[in-house]
Amino acid sequence: MKLVKLSSAKKIQLLIIPVVVLSFCFLGMLWLSISSLALSVMLYVCFGFLGFALLLLSAIAFKALSRLSIEPHDKTQSNMKFIKMGSTHMTHPHLENSIELTGDELTNQLQARRYMEMLIRAALSNQEFTLLYQPKLSTKTGRICGAEALVRWFHPELGWFSPNEFIPIAEETGLIIPLGHWVIKTVCEKIKKWHEMGFEHLKISLNLSAYQFRKGDIVEDIANVLWETQIAPYSLELELTESVLMENTEKCVLMLDVLKSMGISISIDDFGTGYSSLSYLRRFPIDALKIDKSFVNNINEKTQEDTIIRAIIAMAKGLKIKTIAEGVETKEQANYLIKHEVDELQGYYISMPLTEDEFTTQLYEDNAQVVALKH
Ligand code: C2E
Ligand code: CA
Ligand code: CA
Repeated sequence: MKLVKLSSAKKIQLLIIPVVVLSFCFLGMLWLSISSLALSVMLYVCFGFLGFALLLLSAIAFKALSRLSIEPHDKTQSNMKFIKMGSTHMTHPHLENSIELTGDELTNQLQARRYMEMLIRAALSNQEFTLLYQPKLSTKTGRICGAEALVRWFHPELGWFSPNEFIPIAEETGLIIPLGHWVIKTVCEKIKKWHEMGFEHLKISLNLSAYQFRKGDIVEDIANVLWETQIAPYSLELELTESVLMENTEKCVLMLDVLKSMGISISIDDFGTGYSSLSYLRRFPIDALKIDKSFVNNINEKTQEDTIIRAIIAMAKGLKIKTIAEGVETKEQANYLIKHEVDELQGYYISMPLTEDEFTTQLYEDNAQVVALKH
């Protein structure tokens, strides 16, 4: 399906028609004044009739074309730039035209959702998804100890989509199951490759959605992929948000216990932004807390964020849980977090998310530095 809206050039073209019609009427009146009365009356009636018919036709055409219409999607003319879909706004800077749906809100949402669902489905079969790896730095060794796998989608016509745009729709439509499976499989294959290159210390984390826990057979899926790729389970870390843990507690405890017994690590993403109940920290087999970037953003010795971060670190230490700070953007933030003994740092100050090849280069450079230090 393609979303179409009348361009301003076309509107101008249509406005010309009534102007021409009125000119005809004016000419008729002129003729009336200079010719014989009978002939003039006859011509005036003809001109008038013609003018009225054209006016009527142009009005109908203008109204019809001004309305947004849905047509079969023409792959060469994708021009959706802006769709309002509930709370999700998708913007695509590479596109020339701007579209706003003008039907009623519910119809627009359903149409836009179906459109995105179709795009995601096609993207899965066309292999348009890719993974970036954002390095994590160990504050103890000063080395890259792992990375977080972050999904990206490049559509050949619409350009890049941020995961914040398509993950919620993939969750709503259930497409997160095949997409999540692809992420797990790809991450495990890459871990195998990096381990074979000699980087056995690497631990790669991936994000899991609540839906994957609720509906998917996540334990079996991961177990199968581990068996296929033959990688050590300790090299895989799963990032879950607090909401996942709170949603389906009993089932969740069971699933996480099984994953943990397989040797896989579990970390809590965006820690501090979700539920305030901390009792789940005792119930679930958690290995790490990822301190949310909103806290890291504003740390300095005098803010409330400082108090919160120090409390999180102290609590994690007491529970023997690792801490990872995400969204580290400045040297000051990094120094502060090192001083307060956070275990790992992740953020633009350490590195942007990298392609597979860039991350491999980074690993070799990191290794070279360590080797140089030893000699
Ligand atoms: P997240 O798990 O909190 O991922 C961290 C996000 O912060 C990433 O955005 C990353 O690019 C960004 N980031 C990294 N360093 C910095 C920094 O220093 N400053 C700031 N301001 N931001 C930084 P991204 O890649 O756009 O991912 C957004 C969200 O999409 C992720 O948030 C995660 O919840 C979700 N996501 C990404 N990949 C997957 C996936 O494979 N599966 C699922 N279910 N969700 C995913
Ligand atoms: Ca994450
Ligand atoms: Ca996060």
